[in-house]
Amino acid sequence: MTHTEHNRETLMHLQPRHATFVGVDSDGCVFDTMDLKQKQCFHGNIVSQWALEPIEHLVRETAEFINLHSKSRGRNRFLCLVETMDRLRIRPEAMQSGVPIPEFSDLKAFIAADAPLGHPALETAARETGSEELSAVLAWSLKVNADIEAKVKNVPPFPWARESLEKIAASSDAICVSQTPLEALIREWEENNLLHMVRMIAGQELGTKTEHIALAADGRYAPDKILMIGDAPGDRKAAQDNQALFYPIVPSREAESWERFCEEAYDKFLAGTYAGAYEKSLVDAFDAALPETAPWETNQNA
Ligand SMILES: [Mg+2]
Repeated sequence: MTHTEHNRETLMHLQPRHATFVGVDSDGCVFDTMDLKQKQCFHGNIVSQWALEPIEHLVRETAEFINLHSKSRGRNRFLCLVETMDRLRIRPEAMQSGVPIPEFSDLKAFIAADAPLGHPALETAARETGSEELSAVLAWSLKVNADIEAKVKNVPPFPWARESLEKIAASSDAICVSQTPLEALIREWEENNLLHMVRMIAGQELGTKTEHIALAADGRYAPDKILMIGDAPGDRKAAQDNQALFYPIVPSREAESWERFCEEAYDKFLAGTYAGAYEKSLVDAFDAALPETAPWETNQNA
């Protein structure tokens, strides 16, 4: 498969070869890249960009909760940056430190203006407003990308993910559904010899995950024959938006989740017995694994 085939046309005209369709997220779902990207690339750069070294451990603890262990897992980086600072600012230890924590009022205005939350729109806004804050956010984000390219390499799939993808490829039409740039996705799936197991790769260039599933599957499969596999609430939303089913890869229990999928859940999906109590029990466990309240906030309220 060449790069040019992973486009909107291909996605819209995928001809069903099977009665069932499976969308699979990539980061944090097939590949164990979330921790590495967040801790090694995102968080350290927050500390250095905004001179938060004296409270680095608090910054990291807050950012890890928001980006990896809360309902915000998998959300856009700028939304998570704002949320991290808002949560950090009200932590007693951070307040006592006297270290200035950015308010991000310009970034909040940029987000509220509803532009696409990526570099082109941010760059334009930074230039038009002359905001130093937006320029700093852009510099941070570019540094993050450079670090990801340099540091995140040869990350293998989670245990049981390859076996699961092999099983899926034999009985369903599968595509990768992701918000990562296409080029990175192709590199990661190719270097792990997984690319041939999906019909195509849909990256951030082809729209949201909800749109990917709609374009690829809407009207071609019954809703209960469409399954989305993912590790974040956004993956679940993409399934819900399409009245499709959702299989959660639970953060920190990824291997166990894939093993259950391979040995049990996928067969139920094929047999038409996945929906209902079984799906609900898995989604409830997924929900419980991603709380709204941080551990330190629970302690404060106790
Ligand atoms: Mg993911």
